[in-house]
Amino acid sequence: MDSTSPDSDPALEAAGPAMAEATAESAATPGGPATYFDGSSNRRQTVAISLANQLVLRSADNYVSWPYADIRRVDSPTGTLRVGCLSASPLARLEIRDAALAAELIARCSHVDDNRLTRGALARIVGWSLAAAASIVAVVLVVIPFAADRLTPLVPPTMERHLGEAAVVQIQTVFGDKACSEAAGQAAFGKLVTALRVPAGLDDSIASQVLDTPIANAFALPGGRFFLFRGLLDKADDPDEVAGILAHELGHLKHRDNLRQLIHNGGSSFLIGLLFGDITGAGAVIFASRTIVNASYSREAEEAADSFAIQVMHKLGRPTRPMGELMFRITGKEDGKRPSLWASHPLTEDRLARMRAENRPPSGPPLLSAEEWRALKGICH
Ligand SMILES: [Zn+2]
Repeated sequence: MDSTSPDSDPALEAAGPAMAEATAESAATPGGPATYFDGSSNRRQTVAISLANQLVLRSADNYVSWPYADIRRVDSPTGTLRVGCLSASPLARLEIRDAALAAELIARCSHVDDNRLTRGALARIVGWSLAAAASIVAVVLVVIPFAADRLTPLVPPTMERHLGEAAVVQIQTVFGDKACSEAAGQAAFGKLVTALRVPAGLDDSIASQVLDTPIANAFALPGGRFFLFRGLLDKADDPDEVAGILAHELGHLKHRDNLRQLIHNGGSSFLIGLLFGDITGAGAVIFASRTIVNASYSREAEEAADSFAIQVMHKLGRPTRPMGELMFRITGKEDGKRPSLWASHPLTEDRLARMRAENRPPSGPPLLSAEEWRALKGICH
């Protein structure tokens, strides 16, 4: 623009009279000194500005006017207002240090913050992010359980069997490949499982094993497999106790609870992974397989499996109280802080009360002879 001016000093001198002139024009027009960069050189010029119907910048050799609507704030150090103008040279800048004058100017520039991230815009972005997170949480809590219920019946048995086989590998990793196979014990176990399977309405594709582990537990896997741990046999006093627990596991198989749980936890942890930026899905797999091992079914699934076990025992004419007593013997009186394998199960005392209420005196033959029972107890020896 004005490259002939030697330096800014003449402009400074010129600012005085210009200001006086501006003030004289109208006492109602605010104004004051400011620093101006014309955008074509890095020369700083002191100018007098006046806020008339446009922003007017004057110096000895410059007269520039900026429409208020075109004025935009640009980054500046604290205590300085720095603005540019859309209809002027893109790099032209005006700096005002006088806070009152800066406020007067901003009050006239309705679009001064249009291309900046304002507090409102920032709040909107944060709001949308929170909404996205909340929707993922809602999907995990509401949609996935619903979807898991709908999807479970659609999973073909072959796929379920493959899932179960993958889970068996996990089990073997955790507990070692220590299946008990003492011949007489195995025969007794097979007899007991078959006796339960028939009234349970399950075909002979189900597979079961006793694992030589001191933990007192039993669990079912997708694909019709279930496991009984030796620790449970050790604590059992008669075949009806073990039969009730096995019937409960058959209930889980019949209701495909573990598959539902797998879909549920797999989907949930995948989405939770998304929320925390883990999109590999590896976390989901680990989460899901750990869930299978822990056999942490929902309370509802547990109650349904108990109901199923009660029905099976009724059909066999065998008492239901022994299974409640075995559960109680294993978990003891619940003190609310027991991090046991049974933690997600309904309170054992409630279950025992239910098994007692449903108890009927034996009307069917014993499920195992005394000799078979001894053999089963010794299956791991
Ligand atoms: Zn269960």
